[in-house]
Amino acid sequence: MSLAEAGVEDETDVEDEAGVEDETDVEETEEASMADRWHIEVDRDLCIGSGMCVGGAPEEFRLDAARQSHPVSPDREPSEEVLAAAESCPVEAISITRAATGEVVFPPEE
Ligand code: SF4
Repeated sequence: MSLAEAGVEDETDVEDEAGVEDETDVEETEEASMADRWHIEVDRDLCIGSGMCVGGAPEEFRLDAARQSHPVSPDREPSEEVLAAAESCPVEAISITRAATGEVVFPPEE
């Protein structure tokens, strides 16, 4: 799953055709990125300490002494690395929701 598939718009294109930044677009982009922030959780009842998430995204997840994973930044901007780590978890212990709305980003609802 990509960020686009997860419903996250690419907000990097804030320049018009002449290459001049439009301040209105920049403000809207900042507001959109605040609204799109993710909340990351690891279900401790599900986590089996495989370390897949830590191996794939060492800047994003840490294992504690009990080999339970924790997100380094539970509330953050959307990240391909975090999404890939969530997808790599063998027991789907990592959930991603939109911080503002609680809408589920991952795992996809069936
Ligand atoms: S990949 Fe899943 S089971 Fe493995 S440590 Fe991370 S959260 Fe736990």
